[in-house]
Amino acid sequence: MKNVITIDVEDWFHVCGCEPAAVPAPHPKRVRPNVERILGLLAEYDVTATFFVLGSTAEDDPNLVPMIAAAGHEIASHGYSHRLLTRMSPDEFRHELKLTGDIIERQTGRKPAGFRAPQWSLKLTDSWAFEILHEEGYLYDSSLNPLPLVGDGSGPLFPFEIRNGKADMVELPPMVTPTAAGNLPTGGGWGFRFFPLRMIRSTIRRYNHSGAAAILYLHPREMESDGPRLKLPPLRKFATYGPRTEAGGRLRNLLENFRFQTMEQLARSWQSA
Ligand SMILES: [Zn+2]
Repeated sequence: MKNVITIDVEDWFHVCGCEPAAVPAPHPKRVRPNVERILGLLAEYDVTATFFVLGSTAEDDPNLVPMIAAAGHEIASHGYSHRLLTRMSPDEFRHELKLTGDIIERQTGRKPAGFRAPQWSLKLTDSWAFEILHEEGYLYDSSLNPLPLVGDGSGPLFPFEIRNGKADMVELPPMVTPTAAGNLPTGGGWGFRFFPLRMIRSTIRRYNHSGAAAILYLHPREMESDGPRLKLPPLRKFATYGPRTEAGGRLRNLLENFRFQTMEQLARSWQSA
């Protein structure tokens, strides 16, 4: 069973659904050196991954996405501005989707096949958004996180097909560790850096034994433990950043011990199964 590594390509200040105006200027850009570190690790283990790219970040550095694509990785869409879907009208969502799709097509020659909403701000009941994704030609979505608070704590853990006639789509949720106290975020973000590595590895094996791929996610900013951070209230700060550790060592360990494919490969194989 092959698993998936996904990277949400955005800068250090694209967190917690903060409006761009709330971010103190100037914004030192940190995305490129951290993406280069991730690309270096993936190349060492000959693994291809899926990069969910923010349109505004791709536009800021027009060589970034071509560099990722030239290394053989899949380029998918993370929207344009990092505004939450809950704060967007259907027209605004369609506009962001088209804008980012066009930027990616211009920079790589291919339209993206997959989408991930900023901050998991999409719910299974948002059929309007799935209809727009379907109309815009998307094959899969990866926005439904089965976690309490940030997503739906009782949502499906494994890939499934969303079928409502107008918006058939493969949904590929990120990995979590089910416990009596609820699902834990071991598949990415602060949980990926906080929980014991053996717990992450055993969860991947459990997914694989159930016939499902484990989908992991990380952000370029997690490659440096001393990078810039937004000032947030204590609880929100932990939920957003967690411990000040870096994710590179763990990523290397998983690259050594598991096999990987891209989200598009997974979506297509799952669909034809
Ligand atoms: Zn994001």
